[in-house]
Amino acid sequence: MLQTTGRGLYLHIPFCHQRCHFCAFYLEIHRPRAADTFVSSLLTEMRLYGERRPFGEQPLDSIYFGGGTPTTLAPQQLISLLLTAKHIFGLAYDAEVTVEAHPESVTLEGLSQLRDAGFTRISFGAESMDQQELQQVGRPGSVLNTIQVVAAAREAGFIDINLDLMYGLPGQTIDTWAASLRAVSALVPTHLSCYALTIEEGTRLQMAVQQGIVPDPDEVLQNEMEDLAEEMLNQAGYDRYEISNYSRPGYASRHNCLHWTGGQYLGLGPSAQSYVGGRRFGNVSDLVVYNQALDNGALPVEESEQLAPADDLCERIVFGLRMTDGISLADRGPLARPELLRKIEELIADGLLDRRGEQISLTARGRRYADSVAVDLLASLALPEAGVSH
Ligand code: SF4
Repeated sequence: MLQTTGRGLYLHIPFCHQRCHFCAFYLEIHRPRAADTFVSSLLTEMRLYGERRPFGEQPLDSIYFGGGTPTTLAPQQLISLLLTAKHIFGLAYDAEVTVEAHPESVTLEGLSQLRDAGFTRISFGAESMDQQELQQVGRPGSVLNTIQVVAAAREAGFIDINLDLMYGLPGQTIDTWAASLRAVSALVPTHLSCYALTIEEGTRLQMAVQQGIVPDPDEVLQNEMEDLAEEMLNQAGYDRYEISNYSRPGYASRHNCLHWTGGQYLGLGPSAQSYVGGRRFGNVSDLVVYNQALDNGALPVEESEQLAPADDLCERIVFGLRMTDGISLADRGPLARPELLRKIEELIADGLLDRRGEQISLTARGRRYADSVAVDLLASLALPEAGVSH
């Protein structure tokens, strides 16, 4: 699957109403005036890129509003951003347009406005279906919110609905995880993302771990939880199409796939990252500096790097192997290196990779060691490990 699979636009909305204890993302606490200024900067940023036409005349295949919590913005603000993006970049007729939302931050009326304006997919951060577990990590809202908001999204006309879940939460057991999986399956979303909790630098959760208030996540238990998720979700009709993502047939997220299969994406908003024309670049992670740059008619880009073909290849291997389908050797071009093929044979013999025809993918065991498999493959090419990340 080493081919470019489309063009995406990512809009980073850097506001939340409060910070969850585990979260290390760049964000600001939502204030209406700061949000107004930000929306106006983001519209300017779109216009500046519109003059540069990063994707030529080709329309977008996906637009993704992520954050932060995009739905801290009013529906009308989100709609004006979507309409401007459509007008400037063009949108394929079957494009996926996703908005991330906190279950507490939307109403039926707001959801209906978003659906009517062209949002096709909504992604709710459920995280757990156990109220105590949510409280342990400072997550606002309730399990009941999640249940009600999925029903409201359906009533508003959304078919494609994702729920995010986390495992390895403080106090979570294999039984409460199973109960959360059963509870989300009962809501029949089209898509589920399951992420292992990691303790990030500088978070309240890290402080609680350091003070011995909360234990470090238990890796063995998290592995069991990952296996259980695959088993239960498969039984419930979901395919694991990527390490952390499950979907009903036909509902794999285009935005996700674009990232893992070498597609191009333009990221706007503070801290957003882009990959366009073999170049990676990222915006400043500071709302004030971001606004100032755009006020002065300049792009808020902080870092930019044209990837050498070898680095590009390395990233495509690492990201492509996250997909259940893996990568294809059919396009022998850059992958037809004897040293790489030798290493692949070794990893197959070790039970970490599987080969079906020209398709190479991680085995169930390989998925657990995805990072070290990637490091091994890259080492065989004597390439840098720059692309190894989760
Ligand atoms: S809602 Fe999401 S982005 Fe906001 S603080 Fe919580 S985890 Fe972070």
